[in-house]
Amino acid sequence: MTTIAAISTGNAPGGIGVIRISGQDAVKIADSVFQCRDKSPLTDLGGYRAKFGSIVIDGRQRDDAVALVFRAPKSYTGEDVVELSVHGGLLSVSETLDAVFAAGAVPAAAGEFTKRAFLNGKMDLTQAESVADIISAEGEEELKASYAALHGRLSTSINAVLEKLLDASSTMAAWVDYPDEEIPELTDGELLNTLQFCQGELKNLLDSYDSGQVVKAGVDTVIAGRPNVGKSSLMNMLTGTDKSIVTHIEGTTRDIVEENVRLGGIVLHLKDTAGLRESGDVVENIGIEKAYKALENAQLVLAVFDASAALTDEDEELMKRCADRRTVAVVNKTDLKSVLDTNRIESTFDKTVYISAKNDEGLDALEAAVTSLLGTADFDSSAPLLANLRQKQHCENALASINEALDGAALGVTYDAINVMIDAAAEELLSLTGKKASAEVVNHIFSKFCVGK
Ligand code: GDP
Repeated sequence: MTTIAAISTGNAPGGIGVIRISGQDAVKIADSVFQCRDKSPLTDLGGYRAKFGSIVIDGRQRDDAVALVFRAPKSYTGEDVVELSVHGGLLSVSETLDAVFAAGAVPAAAGEFTKRAFLNGKMDLTQAESVADIISAEGEEELKASYAALHGRLSTSINAVLEKLLDASSTMAAWVDYPDEEIPELTDGELLNTLQFCQGELKNLLDSYDSGQVVKAGVDTVIAGRPNVGKSSLMNMLTGTDKSIVTHIEGTTRDIVEENVRLGGIVLHLKDTAGLRESGDVVENIGIEKAYKALENAQLVLAVFDASAALTDEDEELMKRCADRRTVAVVNKTDLKSVLDTNRIESTFDKTVYISAKNDEGLDALEAAVTSLLGTADFDSSAPLLANLRQKQHCENALASINEALDGAALGVTYDAINVMIDAAAEELLSLTGKKASAEVVNHIFSKFCVGK
C-alpha cells in the first residue's frame, strides 16, 4: 500500500493548515520534512504524541509546525498517520505538501483516507458515507443524523437484522444438510418470529427515509402570492437579511430570488417569485410564468395572502394552483385591520398561519406548520436512518425477499426454498454495510468525497 498525503483543511487561507499523511512510511516521510525543536527524530515518537518544530525544505526552515503522530491501527485510517499543522497560508501549506510528495508520498485520491479506514475495518460503508454527509451538512438535524450514523446507529440496526437472518439460515441449512444429526429444528413459530422482526425493522427504516431526505437534502420551497402581499418581506423575515427588495411599486420582484434558510432544523431552499397577477408588461409576464413553473416543481409552497384586503381573482388563481401542492397558507399583515375572508383560506389549505412580516411576528407558528406538513416535527435524528438511495435500494430488496419468505412460509414452502430467500435478503444487507460491496461500488462512493478526507 502506498503512503498518501493531502491537505485536509479547506482550500483558503486560515489560521492553521493541516497536511495529512497516511501509510506505512508516513512517519519516515514526515520526519524528512519536519525537524523537532529538540532535534529528536519523529520516528521515535509513539502514537497520540505531538512535537513542535519546523518544516525544513532544502535545508532551510520554512515554517513552524506541529507534528501529530498516530500509530497503526489506532488512527483514522488504521495505518500510521502524521498530521502536520503549519500556518494556514496557501503557499506554506502547498509547499509543505510538495515536500511531502518529494519525500515519497503520493497524492491521495478523493476520499482515500476514509476508503482506507473502511478497507482496514475501522468503519463500515454506512459510517463512511456519513463522514461525507457530516462534511456537507447545512441543517442542524442533518448534522445530528449524520453524526448518529457515523457512530453506527444504522449499522447496529442493520446488523441486528442480519444476525437474525444468518442465525435462521445456518440452522435451516444444517438441518436440511444433516438430517441425521441432532440439530434442533427451527420451529415454524420461530421462523415466523424472525421474519416478522426483520420485516418490521426494515419497514421502519424505509418509512423514515422520506423525512430523512427532507432533513438531509432540504426542501425546495416557493413563496408565492400576488404583488404586495408581503412575499419579499416574508423572505426577509426568514433570511434575516435584506436580499429581497421591498418597495411599494408593484411587480418589482420580476425574477426569482433564491436563498437557503434554516427553519426548525431543516434547510429550505427558498425562492421568492414574481407577484402573480395579470400584466401587460412582457418582462413581468416572463417572471410570472417562471413563478408558476417554480410553484409546480416546488416541494413546499408558502402561499401568501394579505389580511388587510379582500380576496382577489389572483388570490383565487393561486388557491387553485396550490390545490395539489404541499402548501402552507401564510396570512400576512395581521397588524392591520382584518378584511380577508380567513374562513375560505382555512378551509382551502391544510395549514394556515398568521404573521406580520413587518413586525417579525409569527415565525414560530410558521415553523410548526412547515415541520408538521413535512413530517419532520417528530423527526428523531438519533434514530437509525437510511442516508441515501443506495442504502434504500438494498433495504427495499432485502424487505422484498423477506416478504417472499413470509409468503412462502404461509404456503408451507420447503425450508431450503425459504432459505434461498433469506440468503438473498442477507446478501442485500451485507452489501448495504459494505461487507460484500463490489470494488466498483466502493470506488464510486469514495469518489464523491473531497480530497483530504
Ligand atoms: P411582495 O410584492 O409580495 O413581495 O410584497 P413586499 O414584501 O414588497 O411588501 C409590499 C408592501 O407591504 C411593503 O410596503 C411592505 O412594507 C408592506 N408589508 C409587508 N409585510 C407587512 C406586514 O406584515 N404589515 C404591514 N402593515 N405591511 C407589510
